[in-house]
Amino acid sequence: MQKIYLDNAATTQMSQAAVTEMLPYLREVYGNPSSLHSPGQEAAEALQRARERIAACLGCEAREIYFTSGGSEADNQAILSVAKQGLRRGKKHIISTAFEHHAVLHTLKKLEAEGFEVELLDVHEDGIVTAAQVKEAIRPDTCLVTIMYANNEIGTVQPIREIGAVCREAGVLFHTDAVQAVGHIPVNVKEDHIDLLSLSGHKFHGPKGVGALYARRGVLLTNLIEGGAQERGKRGGTENIPGIMAMAKALEEACTHMQAHTEKLRSLQDKLIEGLGQISHSILNGHRSQRLPGNVSFCFEGIEGEAMLLLLDDKGISASSGSACTSGSLDPSHVLLALGRPHEIAHGSLRLSLSAENTEEEIDYTIRAVEETVSYLRGISPVWRDLLAGKSEFVIQ
Ligand SMILES: *Cc1c(COP(=O)(O)O)cnc(C)c1O
Repeated sequence: MQKIYLDNAATTQMSQAAVTEMLPYLREVYGNPSSLHSPGQEAAEALQRARERIAACLGCEAREIYFTSGGSEADNQAILSVAKQGLRRGKKHIISTAFEHHAVLHTLKKLEAEGFEVELLDVHEDGIVTAAQVKEAIRPDTCLVTIMYANNEIGTVQPIREIGAVCREAGVLFHTDAVQAVGHIPVNVKEDHIDLLSLSGHKFHGPKGVGALYARRGVLLTNLIEGGAQERGKRGGTENIPGIMAMAKALEEACTHMQAHTEKLRSLQDKLIEGLGQISHSILNGHRSQRLPGNVSFCFEGIEGEAMLLLLDDKGISASSGSACTSGSLDPSHVLLALGRPHEIAHGSLRLSLSAENTEEEIDYTIRAVEETVSYLRGISPVWRDLLAGKSEFVIQ
């Protein structure tokens, strides 16, 4: 059976160009960039070129890019670095949102246990936090604002430029988890007034296990990993050159084709939202237009998300009910709860995240498959029977 992969927010397939880019660095140019001999220096030059290529895509300087093992590490390092600086100046207030990725939320939890005060802003029913909310929340003792660029479950894109401007004006450092945004929508760290930004290779058709942290010149980083003098002394460990080269290639490709991909994805997204919206007692999660071009997220009343995923998998469709990180746990998505969805509704969620490789035929097939699956599951659900009999009330009209 042909597979239809609609889980690109969890991870993407590496592009052929990224694989090709990686190969010479596995066997030919395998020197350690810290070595003084010529094979080492060849690797060091490649590393520098990758840094420049990534910086060019983000609108920053090469020396402001620090390679990491991925988005999670970049989030951890950004937040812990700023918190440490804050502590030094007696500033222990941190502003974030309730629907961040767990790499951010769990790091903040750790800081809370150490005496920091973490304020999570409301993201409203449309999944957007406003610059005005941030402005209002900033206090003299605020050391950090960390707000994601685009949400990984519902795809909403935050007004990052306005939020960045508010933070810059108040003299508060601003970090954004841009793992879902980079390579998918235009991101320019200077124009967006971003001080620290996290990105991850495997979310834009690069390899897994490699990412980067942008830290504006002058922002002091603290090591998570002590070791050699790699990454300007801020991240010990021999660099993952093959991964870094492939990530640089994937990002360049993503940025070069961004406009064309966005046009295609928007049309597939419109079709999917229109089609799934026809299903009774269904609701789109997140703002209709202020969202990533490839994200579609729905809740269906009277449905168990996990059951839907398994049935869709039988039909060849790879989807998700929320974030890959919450799969396996029975808790509903913290993102959907943050939107104000009740538990029973949050359980019936479906996230379809597209890539430019998907076709219109796949989308047509998916709409039919979801319709059939929802109708089948409702048919065997006692909860649904009670709703139809008027014994309980519909939450989604
Ligand atoms: C995937 C993801 C991460 C984690 O990135 P890894 O490279 O898998 O560690 C962090 N934040 C967001 C928003 C993500 O989607």
